[in-house]
Amino acid sequence: MEDTVTFISLTDAADRLGVSLAYLRDLIDRTDRKENVLDSDTTADFWSSKTAVIPERDLKKYERELSRRRFVRFRERYADVLVEDVVLTVRPSWKSLLERVSKRLRWMPPEWNARLRKAREKSGYLVLGFEYDRNRQDACNEIERLREEVRLSSLSICEECGRLGRFRYSPSRSLTLCDRHARLSEPVLPGDGVIADPASDGALISELPSD
Ligand SMILES: [Zn+2]
Repeated sequence: MEDTVTFISLTDAADRLGVSLAYLRDLIDRTDRKENVLDSDTTADFWSSKTAVIPERDLKKYERELSRRRFVRFRERYADVLVEDVVLTVRPSWKSLLERVSKRLRWMPPEWNARLRKAREKSGYLVLGFEYDRNRQDACNEIERLREEVRLSSLSICEECGRLGRFRYSPSRSLTLCDRHARLSEPVLPGDGVIADPASDGALISELPSD
């Protein structure tokens, strides 16, 4: 007997996953799974189609992907060096950087009370926020070094897949991406490929969105 494949509409799939339809479409695109989307209307556009379906069994893959993107396991594993309501708004492949930060926090003297408060992507690089004893100069110095070291590292790691990447200068969304994921920041601005670090390379920084 042949296996029968059950299909589910994108709207229902988004409901079952607890995300918006727009988020699910974006997730499918980012994970290079657009070819797994079937459409009875062959002229329909992926981004607006109302007839698109996916195999129901793919839901499991998207569930796993969502939990990866929410850093569920990372939050459990490093709970001791994260503040309780830590904010992690970065793409999944910078997890390696978050792990590096967490391990460094564990090495710091306990009396510094150093913990990660937030990690977010800003104009293509990783910005970190910490809770620690600010009255201690040694703690301040070490936290500053870690912050800058990780920020610079993030400018060479594709946010989506972890491959070697570079800063992409875009009017809508500057990101650090590999060649395969470069499309996520298109169209790019003049200066793309020249600016390696938006925080230090020339006056162009004034055009970037601020905090
Ligand atoms: Zn990539």
